Amino acid sequence: MVKIIKDYIPKSNKNRPGNYMKPLYITVHNTANTKEGADAASHANFVKRSSTAVSWHYTVDENVIYQHLPLNENGWHAGDGRGTGNMKSIGIEICENADGNFEKAVENAQWLIRQLMTDQGIPLSNVVPHKHWSGKECPRRLLNRWDSFKAGIAVANTNKKPSAKPTKATPTKTAVSNPAKKSFNLPSGIIKVTKPLTKGAGVKALQEALAAVYYYPDKGAKNNGIDGYYGPKTANAVKRFQSMHGLVADGIYGPKTKAALQKALK
Ligand SMILES: [Zn+2]
Repeated sequence: MVKIIKDYIPKSNKNRPGNYMKPLYITVHNTANTKEGADAASHANFVKRSSTAVSWHYTVDENVIYQHLPLNENGWHAGDGRGTGNMKSIGIEICENADGNFEKAVENAQWLIRQLMTDQGIPLSNVVPHKHWSGKECPRRLLNRWDSFKAGIAVANTNKKPSAKPTKATPTKTAVSNPAKKSFNLPSGIIKVTKPLTKGAGVKALQEALAAVYYYPDKGAKNNGIDGYYGPKTANAVKRFQSMHGLVADGIYGPKTKAALQKALK
């Protein structure tokens, strides 16, 4: 149980746009502010300034959680414009002030995320790093341990250590249907951007699988860019997926990417 202090950004601020939001995702950040005293309270003051352009929903330190926005309003934290990250995700900043206990702040964030998943019906698969939306190296201190961070969310509120199969602890309410349940006939062999472009049902299945784990070939385009052609945008989706799954991020689809994708789809 961590204390949550509601200290909202004034409605007159431009970083409180007030667009209605039904949160479908939770986006995790690190403040990248290592100054002493850069705790949750100091970030609450920062986002309340009328000159501040960015905003998010919660800042977590080792002692307390500040809430800056109501959950049915969007913030500007994901770096994807009016994309899903900004418009449909709850932004959480985890403090890394030099005089704080980072690991305790991480634990508190895991606890908060677990509560939000249950309250909002958000599945663990929709808890994503900032990097997922914009490619930014954020949360910089958690990207190299993202899987164990998520495992810790799954077991938050219990005394058990994270187990090898944490995904069992899905929320009771699931408002978002999980497209990952579908099976995809992923192609074998190697696919890369060629001239003319490689096309066909295999590429389409790959694009659909990428979209199901939220690496859309071209979000905003017709059918999210799922068109059966392996062009630069599909290669970019593959690249983003590879970089988040410990693979060489070259945008070339092959057996390793296939295996990681099959795992992610489970
Ligand atoms: Zn971030």
